[in-house]
Amino acid sequence: MRMILFGAPGSGKGTQAALLEKRLGVPAVSTGNILRAAIREGAEVGRKAKSFVDAGRLVPDEIMVEIIKTRLARPDCEKGFILDGFPRTVAQAEALEAAGIAIDHVLDIEVSDEEVERRLTGRRVCQSCEATFHIHGNPPGAEGVCDACGGELVRRDDDAPETVRSRLRVFHEATEPLKGWYERKGKLVTIVAHDTIPNISARIFAALGVRE
Ligand code: AMP
Repeated sequence: MRMILFGAPGSGKGTQAALLEKRLGVPAVSTGNILRAAIREGAEVGRKAKSFVDAGRLVPDEIMVEIIKTRLARPDCEKGFILDGFPRTVAQAEALEAAGIAIDHVLDIEVSDEEVERRLTGRRVCQSCEATFHIHGNPPGAEGVCDACGGELVRRDDDAPETVRSRLRVFHEATEPLKGWYERKGKLVTIVAHDTIPNISARIFAALGVRE
């Protein structure tokens, strides 16, 4: 099970990746989470990436390809993985292919720009474990507290409305062309995602042919 969850920021990739990880027993690999951890820890790659992440722009391909190759080489990825947020450019997809990393499924999670803006401005993320919630659609049991680990829930800096708009622009310009790229390879499955989390998840499991 080597799969890519493809979609705009706020389409629900991270939420669905976490559910798939639990069900399939292969790790969800989020390049956004890897970058945010590197920035928090003051690692060299974090220092290089910070200004791009803060502005909602793409971190250069060379940096991202290095990060993903290192991560996918770890033993927990031997039986498969769920990529969330990578690849984001055709060059990144080509680099995966050139590294001999074959992909079985690309799930394209489709939502409108209006829905993305609504979801991201209401999104809250755990500072400790990165679990995500939504103030209306998926609220935590206690306000501001993570259900999974008890950590503090905050709004990500790049979920500010003006940064969301720039991330959406980047998605349409640089990332969306990847859809055609994977479609031509016969890998793309479209999941309409204007729905509840369990309904979207059911559609994804059906598309993969696995029982919930
Ligand atoms: P995400 O958590 O997936 O929304 O990613 C947050 C930010 O990290 C993005 O807005 C980019 O600045 C950066 N980022 C994450 N993944 C990639 C990638 N594959 N290529 C370039 N930049 C990325």
